[in-house]
Amino acid sequence: MTTTPALADSDFVIFGGTGDLALRKLLPALYLRDRDGQLPAGTRIVAVSRAGLDDAGYRDKVRGSLPAYVGESEPRELDRFVSRLSHVSLDVDDAAAWIELADRLSVDANPVRVFYLAVGPALFGPICRHLDEHGLVDAESRVVLEKPIGHDLASAEAINDAVGAVFDESRIFRIDHYLGKESVQNLLVTRFANTIFEPLWNAHAIDHVQITVSESLGVGSRGGYYDAAGALRDMVQNHLLQLLCLVAMEPPTYVGRETVRDEKLKVLQALRPMTADEITSSAVVGQYTAGLAEGTAVPSYLEDLETESSRTETFVALKAEVCNWRWAGVPFYLRTGKRMKRQYSEIVIAFKQVPHPMFPGSDGEQEPNRLVMHLQPDESIRLHLVAKEPGPGGIRLRPASLDLNFTQAFGAKSPDAYERLLMDVIRGNPTLFMRRDEVEAAWRWIEPIVAHMASGKSPRPYPAGTDGPPAADTLIERDGRAWHESSSR
Ligand code: NAP
Repeated sequence: MTTTPALADSDFVIFGGTGDLALRKLLPALYLRDRDGQLPAGTRIVAVSRAGLDDAGYRDKVRGSLPAYVGESEPRELDRFVSRLSHVSLDVDDAAAWIELADRLSVDANPVRVFYLAVGPALFGPICRHLDEHGLVDAESRVVLEKPIGHDLASAEAINDAVGAVFDESRIFRIDHYLGKESVQNLLVTRFANTIFEPLWNAHAIDHVQITVSESLGVGSRGGYYDAAGALRDMVQNHLLQLLCLVAMEPPTYVGRETVRDEKLKVLQALRPMTADEITSSAVVGQYTAGLAEGTAVPSYLEDLETESSRTETFVALKAEVCNWRWAGVPFYLRTGKRMKRQYSEIVIAFKQVPHPMFPGSDGEQEPNRLVMHLQPDESIRLHLVAKEPGPGGIRLRPASLDLNFTQAFGAKSPDAYERLLMDVIRGNPTLFMRRDEVEAAWRWIEPIVAHMASGKSPRPYPAGTDGPPAADTLIERDGRAWHESSSR
């Protein structure tokens, strides 16, 4: 059994400490790790925003927001967590205000400083510059960058340059919370800790791969950000391409801080750039109109934004190709959207049909094998097989499945991805974070698609509560395939 090394005392500074991400994800994750006894006694959490709150005001705010995400707490545990919190009112652009933060952090400084930038990317460079000017960065400091890292390759490079001027690449943690999901890490374990899959994990046995991230919610209060991004930038450039990398990568010699990222980079570099004609024929973008979400009438994207017109896509389906020996000729179908019928994420490895139907009457009825990795809401792996229907009267084939549900198998609910990833930051382990070259390679591939879509026809409308525009079905059906109808949905 391996044991996880204990964490060092840290000062965890959250820029954007009053924002949605901090209150909904970061503070609940830190609280849950604290509740499990993982945060050392000296850990301090310093929130930064322009909110004009004192420490007591911020603690009250967090006391009020936490229960919605972590449930009821033991008063003693809640008090302990809240006592770690403080708030510094600071406008990033106001150079004078930084002195208070510098003073706060200089008192009984902890050995590790984490600067979590839960603010818009335009502030990443200025924050790092001010941190440096005020002597707040040392060799043990780490910075965490939230997506989006830029809105195209040039802006991503500019951000990476500005942050890299202050922090060494080994201290920059570009977070993609999908990589912290148990089931995503299990994808690596399934592939590389079992002998049975790897000989089949290639173009000889695999017909195609599907990756779907389907969200039932609309843009909510994040419309302003979303309208400037769209699904290609917000989801495909990071989450879907990262999942594709984990499916397609070669086995590294060992799982180390750089080895997995080296292999993921090779996959991104092997993605075939799409020509304008291919984008037209192999990518579909859509935008939700008013419809029914779980029986309730919901407004259109334009109504959500309170605007007359927008060309921003809230849905994408596209066919990607990984040009290397292992994957030649195997399409990767990627699909993501907002206001879809259901909330789920899954990866489907669709194997080839048997070469010859030998059971009488089975011709055309035999479903090819599929390995389906459900990432959310349930985390499970299901291998779809064909079995004999029990009973006399000849052999009748029936679909059946082998199921591994992680919660049932291991008796524990998986921690939220942020819990794992925030502890990795404090520990200084960047394995599950994106390296600069990965982010830039992903932009290099996606940028022409974004540009072509922006200059082409408007996104196709699809009613909220559906699986996206019909053209997304046509995209895969004209290749003689269909989107997987997940049985866990
Ligand atoms: P948000 O709710 O708008 O919060 C932004 C935070 O930044 C607030 O605390 C705000 O506080 C602070 N802030 C803004 N300008 C500031 C300035 N000049 N100086 C100091 N503080 C400033 O945004 P969010 O949803 O938390 O998202 C934050 C970042 O994470 C965004 O880049 C977003 O794209 C990214 N992200 C968010 C999510 C999510 O689920 N929310 C998921 C992935 C990535 P004041 O206005 O009081 O200063």
